[in-house]
Amino acid sequence: MNNNALYNINCGLFVLTAKDGTKQNGCIINTVMQVTSSPVKISATVNKTNFTAEMIMKTKQFCVSCIDESADFSLFERFGFASGRDVDKFNGYNEIKTAENGIYYVTESTNAYIGAKVVDVIDVGTHYIFIAEVAEGDVLSDKSSASYSYYHKNIKPQPKKIKSEKSRWVCKICGYVYEGDYLPDDFICPICKHPASDFEKME
Ligand code: FE
Repeated sequence: MNNNALYNINCGLFVLTAKDGTKQNGCIINTVMQVTSSPVKISATVNKTNFTAEMIMKTKQFCVSCIDESADFSLFERFGFASGRDVDKFNGYNEIKTAENGIYYVTESTNAYIGAKVVDVIDVGTHYIFIAEVAEGDVLSDKSSASYSYYHKNIKPQPKKIKSEKSRWVCKICGYVYEGDYLPDDFICPICKHPASDFEKME
């Protein structure tokens, strides 16, 4: 199996946000789609270990901000590579607006936002699929949506070519390069927290 085939599934990139009490949080996901049109329902798939998933399980509400092609890697660092359990991802960040449901949505390099109320949750093992009825939303710009494939080709930092005695593995998700004699099976990327299976040996 060549796992790279999965990168050719044409999915987008989104900041999924939630609010529990006064705590606002968000994470990056690549799996949002419309599932019905009457009423308008969308699905959002999130890893259960994400704090945002936990918050949505409790509050049954979320916003989705659709990331466009003007996005900088820093947006992914802010929302994708840290946990809302440890940090306030909105600390010092002004590129937000508050949706009618009280949840922040991101206005930096996003072309639309949608606010939705969860009506069903499907447990698929490592992830929850939230099925939600759309309550609000707006178009924020006319820029093209960033696809997952676009992220890998244009937004993620490309590994620099340097000569080295040691072998090197690159994280396919964030571009982090590990150098050593071998890559331990239980290695976790220090930047994006993805496992060793998401690393690829560099020539
Ligand atoms: Fe990584």
